[in-house]
Amino acid sequence: MTKSFKNKNSASTARGNDRKRPGELAGCDPNLIERLLSVLETEIIPLTQDGVRQGNKIFGAAMLKKADLSTVIVGTNHETENPLWHGEIYTINQYYEMVNRDESQRVDPKDILFFSTHEPCTLCSSAIAWAGYDNFYYLFSHEDSRDAFKIGHDLKILKAVFKHDPGGYARQNDYWTAFSVVDLINNCDAPSKTQFLKRVERIKQIYDDMSDIYQTHKGEAKNIPLK
Ligand SMILES: [Zn+2]
Repeated sequence: MTKSFKNKNSASTARGNDRKRPGELAGCDPNLIERLLSVLETEIIPLTQDGVRQGNKIFGAAMLKKADLSTVIVGTNHETENPLWHGEIYTINQYYEMVNRDESQRVDPKDILFFSTHEPCTLCSSAIAWAGYDNFYYLFSHEDSRDAFKIGHDLKILKAVFKHDPGGYARQNDYWTAFSVVDLINNCDAPSKTQFLKRVERIKQIYDDMSDIYQTHKGEAKNIPLK
């Protein structure tokens, strides 16, 4: 039994390394995980709660400096104004409004760590490429958006337009590398992993509550074709 289990394991490792997501191969960086969760809790969620009260979806983003993980800008979904104002797009737009007003705020795109609350859709992952960011990190997956938050358009568009099944896009490509924060957490030692996952569970509860508000009122949003 032991032998066959071992063989099975090593075969799957040999076969599976290039199928692993970048986050699974990244190792544990507790400072990074801590900072991303803090930005989410203290900066993105309060803005999202305001946005959801106005009828917007629950998605948000932040741009941080890679060097010290300080916040450059935070933004959230504003689809009630424009259906293209996804959290990521709105954040990039806000950033350019800021630097066009004040050049001193500009940060080279290659020095930016891009954080999305939810795995970016095809629109936003292309925008991240066009804007010159070489990475993005996300907490909730496309499947979470579909199953837990009842927004399945990311995966539907991925399939209908690009003919990809869930997870079928290139998480590492010439433009960017995509990291799941949960994958990063799973690489940590048991006590840190337990602590981080508990925190993610608390965050998810807050998102569940915001999602309920969005779902209850989404019928009233006239500028959002894909609800
Ligand atoms: Zn998007």
